[in-house]
Amino acid sequence: MASNPNSQSPALARPWNVDLTEPRIRVESWGRALVSDGRVVRATHPDTLRKIFEMARRDHRTIALRGAGNSYSDAFQNRGGLVLDTAGMDRILEWDSTTGIVRSEPGLTIGKMWRSTLQEGWWPPVVTGTMFASFGGLAAMNAHGKNNFKRGTFGEHIVEFTILLPTGEEKRCSPTENSELYYAAIGGFGMLGCFTDITLKMKKVHSGLVEVDAHVTRNLDEAFQCFEKHKDHIDYFVGWFDAFATGGDLGRGIIHTARYLREGEDPNPGMTLQPASQELPERILGFPKSLMWIALRPFVNDMGMRYINLAKYISSRVHPDGHRYRQSLAAFSFLLDYVPNWKLSYGPGGLIQYQSFIPKEKACETYKTLIRMSHERGVIPYLLVFKRHRRDPFLLTHAVDGYSLAMDYRVTEKNRGALWSLAAEMDEAVHAAGGRFYFAKDATLRSESLRRIWPKASIDQFLNLKKKCDPDGILQTDLFRRVFANEI
Ligand SMILES: Cc1cc2nc3c(=O)[nH]c(=O)nc-3n(C[C@H](O)[C@H](O)[C@H](O)COP(=O)(O)OP(=O)(O)OC[C@H]3O[C@@H](n4cnc5c(N)ncnc54)[C@H](O)[C@@H]3O)c2cc1C
Repeated sequence: MASNPNSQSPALARPWNVDLTEPRIRVESWGRALVSDGRVVRATHPDTLRKIFEMARRDHRTIALRGAGNSYSDAFQNRGGLVLDTAGMDRILEWDSTTGIVRSEPGLTIGKMWRSTLQEGWWPPVVTGTMFASFGGLAAMNAHGKNNFKRGTFGEHIVEFTILLPTGEEKRCSPTENSELYYAAIGGFGMLGCFTDITLKMKKVHSGLVEVDAHVTRNLDEAFQCFEKHKDHIDYFVGWFDAFATGGDLGRGIIHTARYLREGEDPNPGMTLQPASQELPERILGFPKSLMWIALRPFVNDMGMRYINLAKYISSRVHPDGHRYRQSLAAFSFLLDYVPNWKLSYGPGGLIQYQSFIPKEKACETYKTLIRMSHERGVIPYLLVFKRHRRDPFLLTHAVDGYSLAMDYRVTEKNRGALWSLAAEMDEAVHAAGGRFYFAKDATLRSESLRRIWPKASIDQFLNLKKKCDPDGILQTDLFRRVFANEI
């Protein structure tokens, strides 16, 4: 089983031997651009969690929960406080291969899950671009995949969960039991309590392959038309745009749509459903994949990335009318895991991602504006990824009936100020379009934005629940203090 290259090595605490005086260490966001510090303690058992909450209440400490540490934002950072790592709580507690219902501890990763169930024909209903995220982190952020428009978010497949509140109380929650907490804790970015078990309904699949269509789109308008044209026949939709293209080429790129194979379409499901047939290649272009980030390093600058974006677009034009092929579920889903530690190729300043979610009526024009703004300010994103979304019933949802564009920016000492100013300017365009942001990715949002993004009633309800679940304000993160600064 591949280990998580994203994990740091936090101090280990045994269930009853919890030491909250661990030295403070540097705690980085996934993309390394946000740096904080904290005392990292690790829980491998719910009793440890309970004990740590109790000690934090007694000693007036604050705690940030950490799953597998894949957030680009400051969602698991807690300057000067405790960072409670739950990655070690990763056991599958119950599995029913007839219904596809799994109950697991929160630290279970997507990768460990599909490797355990695919052979029996079950795949996670929603997966992120990395398989290293944990169920706890995915539930807390209510993560989405390339199938958000069709299957909704990770939270929509959670049948029930148990959450340990900072008061020490434990609650079982589902859409019908403690439902207010169910709809608020999913997407509640770890501010209401710690999930101790999560029950999820998996997706039945008849093959380990998906049928993929690659569509070349010559500009942003064509990318939007592509979704409308294919939406009724596909399960997945994801686009890549050349971040450097301007003028009439602005937003040119490749859209990948995919669908599950129906029963009987795969001549050899016994083989394709084997986890071994899904594993990502060990070598890329002849390089061992573990060293690939070093090979990429000289290209991760404006000139190199302009060339890489152009080369990717030109190579897609080999099939100007599209291209159909079959690909393993893992290879299609976890493109970002092909090159371990690719984030290191961005250099010491790391990267941030600016991902906005915009209602469909305004998305195309607003994304043209955001890309143009980046070019005008001379701070150009190196990667643009495009998805289609739908609304969901969770209190602080980021999803809209519309689209998202994720823009990856390299951060350097020199561009940091300009990048944060650009983000503030782009926020205005996103607000004007009725857009939203996603706490797993956001690194720049200011507290003034909070009430412009979510309805007042939702924020008030969330903060009331926080007071009930966490009256001493133990659960805190740098993200919470940054975005909710005007409310706390
Ligand atoms: C390469 C890459 C690709 C990605 N692609 C996508 C994508 O396609 N779609 C998408 O939606 N996201 C995506 N993400 C973001 C990622 O899915 C989220 O940040 C997710 O929350 C990460 O899970 P984690 O286990 O690493 O959680 P962490 O980053 O460790 O924590 C995330 C949040 O969950 C809280 N938390 C963690 N464990 C618990 C718990 N047991 N109980 C309560 N709260 C808890 C933390 O306090 C924190 O607020 C991607 C990230 C990376 C690095």
